[in-house]
Amino acid sequence: RPALVWLRDDQRLADNPALDAARRSVRPLVLLHVLEEGPDIRPPGGAARWWLGRSLAALARDLARHGGTLTLRRGDAREILPALVRETGAGAVYWNRRYDSAGVATDTALKAALRDEGIETESFSATLLHEPWTVLTREDGVYRVFTPFYRAARGREVRQPLAASHARWHWAEPPAGDRIEDWRLEPRAADWAGGLRATWTPGEAGARAALERFLEDGIDGYAAGRDRPDRENTSRLSPYLRAGNISPHQIRAALLHAEASGEARSADVEKFLSELYWREFSYHLLFHNPDLATRNFNARFDGFAWQSDAAFERAWQRGLTGFPIVDAGMRQLWQTGWMHNRVRMIAASLLIKQGLVDWRRGEEWFWDTLVDADPANNPASWQWVAGSGADAAPYFRIFNPVLQGEKFDPDGAYIRRFVPEIAALPAKVIHKPWQAPEEVLHKAGIVLGETYPRPALDLDTARRRALERFQRLGKD
Ligand code: FAD
Repeated sequence: RPALVWLRDDQRLADNPALDAARRSVRPLVLLHVLEEGPDIRPPGGAARWWLGRSLAALARDLARHGGTLTLRRGDAREILPALVRETGAGAVYWNRRYDSAGVATDTALKAALRDEGIETESFSATLLHEPWTVLTREDGVYRVFTPFYRAARGREVRQPLAASHARWHWAEPPAGDRIEDWRLEPRAADWAGGLRATWTPGEAGARAALERFLEDGIDGYAAGRDRPDRENTSRLSPYLRAGNISPHQIRAALLHAEASGEARSADVEKFLSELYWREFSYHLLFHNPDLATRNFNARFDGFAWQSDAAFERAWQRGLTGFPIVDAGMRQLWQTGWMHNRVRMIAASLLIKQGLVDWRRGEEWFWDTLVDADPANNPASWQWVAGSGADAAPYFRIFNPVLQGEKFDPDGAYIRRFVPEIAALPAKVIHKPWQAPEEVLHKAGIVLGETYPRPALDLDTARRRALERFQRLGKD
């Protein structure tokens, strides 16, 4: 009787414990992906849908090379799985675990229902280095601060990536399924995905190439260079991790190997691994706080009077705030589906702190536009910037986009790339065009308010207002 492997955020053949177990069981294989729909399911945003379509297509091609097929179904997994088990006569169902509440609820219900029918059902750890229920304080409590979490987690054993299996692939007769085109995951009316196509190669081969590039060019100087949006010092592995085109175990092992063989410096590897553990921490928070994306982690923020300013929000989304580093970031996001981490922090801070816009509005925009839009990292990071999160930035940390820009993009190279209309400005004023002398603007062909916006708000006034409002939190 066949083994049914349900692939979700683990769209890869290598280091895939559920798939590995199915192949070892020597049962013929049925591989399935479900586009899940239902009232509790947060639909993927536009950029993530684009990634999903391409990633599944790559997975299907990889499987075809082994003589197999990926079956696609759409709807409620609680109905689809049992129906497919009956249809194929499967005797076993395997999947790798996930950690969002809707996913956990579905998986728990399915496991019980399938086992009741005598179907062997097993789930595996694949997406995180540590299961969220295994890293707890001495009193079995949940860590709320990163550093002690990291210390506790780093001391625990991590399995090595699974060795590639040379066993033959045995396939069951593939059941009927949807065609990927039927799911219409790509843009229809306006084709906004050109920049995404030019930037990314979703799938396992693309992930391997990104890791190799990073080991060759990026890891050297990562510890300091990771904060520089004008450099290519970070791995850009985030969307691959999100879809599971690569596992954190594979990445970790490659980095440790580079360190051991002297190809990478320990300081850089350490810093990189700690970033991977921020991802672990976000998932840990999500698992223990299922409504991370909608509810303030810190309840004191529940009464905060956020402001709604549609014009400001729209200018922020379009990269037209008049603050070049923020505009460059928001345009990088729109064009490529990704934004550098330092700029994500500056852009989020402007929206929430100076703009007093509810962090959930920003989280939703990122959810729709990021190829790495992640149910754990996205809300955890937004709450971190807002100050409402676990181990959050303190309320008085209000990034000044001019100073941040001057520090982390000192020559303005990042801005010149994404905000071409001010590219001719000298580095001295490129982060604050409104302070440039008239003749400098003229020479650069800029008319403020026409060819590039004036600043959407006064930074000093907005900072004072934010400090006063955030300081009052918890005192009222
Ligand atoms: P690298 O520096 O190469 O890091 C390697 C990996 O470590 C990343 O791929 C990622 O998985 C993890 N990582 C790195 N930095 C962080 C971090 N600060 N927090 C958690 N994990 C981290 N990351 C997402 O994956 N999805 C999101 O939806 C997301 N939304 C964010 C929203 C805001 C407002 C902010 C400030 C950050 C957000 N991040 C998110 C975290 C971070 O910006 C990205 O993970 C990182 O920029 C990805 O680029 P990289 O792969 O080149 O990172």
